[in-house]
Amino acid sequence: MASDFLNLPTLMLVVSLVNFLNVLFITFAWLRSPRNPALNWWTAAVWMVVVSVALGSLGQFHANLLTGLVAAMMYMASMAFVWLGFRAFFHRKRHLSRALIGPLALVTLYVAIPDTALRNETVLAALCCGVAAYLFAGALQFIQGAEGETLSFSRFGFVIFTGNALTHLAAIPLAHVWPIEMIDARPVSPWLFVVILLLLMHTVATTLLTVVLVAERSHQRLKRLANTDMLTGMKNRRAFVSSVERTLERDLIGGALAIIDLDYFKAVNDNYGHLAGDEVLKAFAQILQAKAGSNVVVGRLGGEEFAFFAREWTAERASLLAEEIRAEFADTAVEFAGRHIRATVSIGLADIPGGFGIDQLSAAADSALYVAKASGRNQICAASPKTLKSMSAELRGSFEDRPQTVRDISAVQAAG
Ligand code: GH3
Ligand code: MG
Ligand code: MG
Repeated sequence: MASDFLNLPTLMLVVSLVNFLNVLFITFAWLRSPRNPALNWWTAAVWMVVVSVALGSLGQFHANLLTGLVAAMMYMASMAFVWLGFRAFFHRKRHLSRALIGPLALVTLYVAIPDTALRNETVLAALCCGVAAYLFAGALQFIQGAEGETLSFSRFGFVIFTGNALTHLAAIPLAHVWPIEMIDARPVSPWLFVVILLLLMHTVATTLLTVVLVAERSHQRLKRLANTDMLTGMKNRRAFVSSVERTLERDLIGGALAIIDLDYFKAVNDNYGHLAGDEVLKAFAQILQAKAGSNVVVGRLGGEEFAFFAREWTAERASLLAEEIRAEFADTAVEFAGRHIRATVSIGLADIPGGFGIDQLSAAADSALYVAKASGRNQICAASPKTLKSMSAELRGSFEDRPQTVRDISAVQAAG
């Protein structure tokens, strides 16, 4: 009973239905994004499989070897196109010529071998080898991935493509030991059923894989967008705050927070324009990121306000880093439209033990920043449990002497 139900023609019907759904699905996706290079190749591939299967079943009624050869070529080219589709997906170059080499080699073999039996067996073996080679090349794409991106479902891609390639290779010795017989125009074979079933599973798995990989990539992009400040590329307030919260409240590890505010930044915009202001913000972000290194979390809290958080550090230790950042930025002239813009920052520091909330920590750092601003700007203040202590009061003197600072410009404006 079971063998009556699980016969090859039934399986082939299922293969045709799955291919039909596959074509509908991929073509619909392609119509929605016709400029997606990966979808272009995948759409071409699924249509070639349809033509190949159609030609193959035509061959059952018209025992024409040429239809069989064209069907084999189309099938191999479709696997090559799937490979090119994944190269496109991972932003790599596509070589159409390499996708055509396999199918052309099949024709060459077909023409070169006069003996029919030997020719059929050789062409079948070459077809399986060629398809396996394209599938292995496809599997390789999942190992290499795209630069700067880790898609966790890529490992499934590697398994699916390698499994598919091995299935094709296994068919070569099987066809040699147990050649497929044709009884009543139906292929009869003890192993063909299993191989076709495996290939069917691979087709379904590959389509699912493309959907999952596309979804995983767009999820990662959205997450990045939601957590990144567009102007500077650094963490935005949301991402910065949740990172500090994780350390303080989940890992129960304390640390030091610095809130950094550019001085008289409104004057930069007023004097040089908003675009120039943006350049100054970017220049500061670069200094902050470079000085902080990888163990210190940095972020732009909004506007001209930045922050860094160093786990396990005291405010005193953080003041050394803060001073490096302050001094480097004060010495930097940002070039914009042929003009050199100088600006400074004021920094408020505070530290807190693990288990406390970020609200207490940032309130303390904010009050320190307020004192730094009120004491003349371009300096660092720390909120210690005892007092708010000015950490670089002596630097104020040198700041007063500098002629090209924004502070001077605004002072001139105020005077005028
Ligand atoms: P203080 O020293 O007291 O901090 O003075 P300030 O002028 O820096 O402070 P204020 O809060 O008055 O002005 C901040 C300015 O920052 C006003 C706003 O236009 C500007 N700003 C905020 N975000 C951006 C931005 O993304 N780009 C530019 N160019 N300017 C920005
Ligand atoms: Mg400011
Ligand atoms: Mg501000």
